[in-house]
Amino acid sequence: MLLFSALALLCVLPLIALAAEDYYKLLNLDRDADDRQIKKAYRKLSKQWHPDKNPGNSEAEAKFKDIAEAYDVLSDQELRQVYNQHGHEGVKQRRQGGGAARHNPFDLFSQFFGGGGHFGQGQRRGPNMEVRIHVPLRNFYTGADHEFKVEKQAICDKCDGSGSEDGVRDTCHKCNGQGMVVQRHQLAPGIFQQAQMQCDVCGGKGSTVKNKCKRCGGSRVVRTEEQFDLAVEKGMPKGIRVTYENEADESPDYAAGDLIVLLMEKDPELGVAEHERTDGTFFRRKDTHLHWREVLSLREAWMGDWTRNLTHLDGHVVHLFRPRGQVIQPGTVEVVKGEGMPIWRHEEGQGPAFGDLHVEYVVVLPDAMEGGMEKEFWQVWEKWRKKVGVDLGREFGRPTERVGRHDEL
Ligand SMILES: [Zn+2]
Ligand SMILES: [Zn+2]
Repeated sequence: MLLFSALALLCVLPLIALAAEDYYKLLNLDRDADDRQIKKAYRKLSKQWHPDKNPGNSEAEAKFKDIAEAYDVLSDQELRQVYNQHGHEGVKQRRQGGGAARHNPFDLFSQFFGGGGHFGQGQRRGPNMEVRIHVPLRNFYTGADHEFKVEKQAICDKCDGSGSEDGVRDTCHKCNGQGMVVQRHQLAPGIFQQAQMQCDVCGGKGSTVKNKCKRCGGSRVVRTEEQFDLAVEKGMPKGIRVTYENEADESPDYAAGDLIVLLMEKDPELGVAEHERTDGTFFRRKDTHLHWREVLSLREAWMGDWTRNLTHLDGHVVHLFRPRGQVIQPGTVEVVKGEGMPIWRHEEGQGPAFGDLHVEYVVVLPDAMEGGMEKEFWQVWEKWRKKVGVDLGREFGRPTERVGRHDEL
């Protein structure tokens, strides 16, 4: 008999597993996720699957509800523990025994984003917020996950945006919950003007709170710092705007506007870590190309036979060199193909995947020489200027009687 029930249980278990999706899986969370991660997952997924965004899609609607349910359970310490030990069945039993009341999925949504749980057309919307985020050029080159914090107004999570410590709001006695009152002004004897005004007792809300929430003082909102993830994609243009839907200031009175991130390039600085000390840190970007200035000595520019190893933004080496006998004139720009910025969202077969690196050569002359060296050079010059020197004055048709000789090799 015992064996039989054990067998029966084994058959039933997979059925239960099929019936409801695992809450952690539903929210894409690990089992040891903390409160912040749970909140974040809910914020992201509930927007994605909101029926207003997926009109007529019953699958999305079901998912939206499941996500709310999952959040409801996992955000409650006690229920989460019950769920961890006994699964969906355990939660069900606990609730029947007078556990935490379920949130309506739209009410829950409005506790995060305001707007009565909707953000469709015709919904009042708060203003958008714009922030500037500066990331180093290296991140634009390699792509990077960036985190940033924004201080914003959030719906108080202590009172869920009611402003009341005990959840009770009383209908305003002055406007009877209308939020508006009609005022009569006498313009002249017997002539009245009627005007609708916002109720001054409840501030237009239609209700008042006796026992104010201790965290928000009845204002229903608090200032908080929220952390966001920003995926900087390879080759992303600077100055691009990345939109975080409904992540601007929240209020119970309207649907939150969008948070817009203006992605900027940070000024280069010589950091401490090795990857911050590459030549690439000081490359200058112009669209898909990179620019660099390389210094050559007089000997190198004139005689050739030199090499340079430039460390690029990701640390790989770009080899520059000239064999003996190759002259580089000051100001020459060498274009190194494919060593510029990656092309943003480049697709296979759609032209080059990278821009170019433009290397401008600057030539510096020594301003001091050892005495012996100076003599030797002087003699070499003396010898050759007499042999092949050109009188520039005569060349250009200038008068030739001058003090001293002015000719050039
Ligand atoms: Zn009122
Ligand atoms: Zn509050």
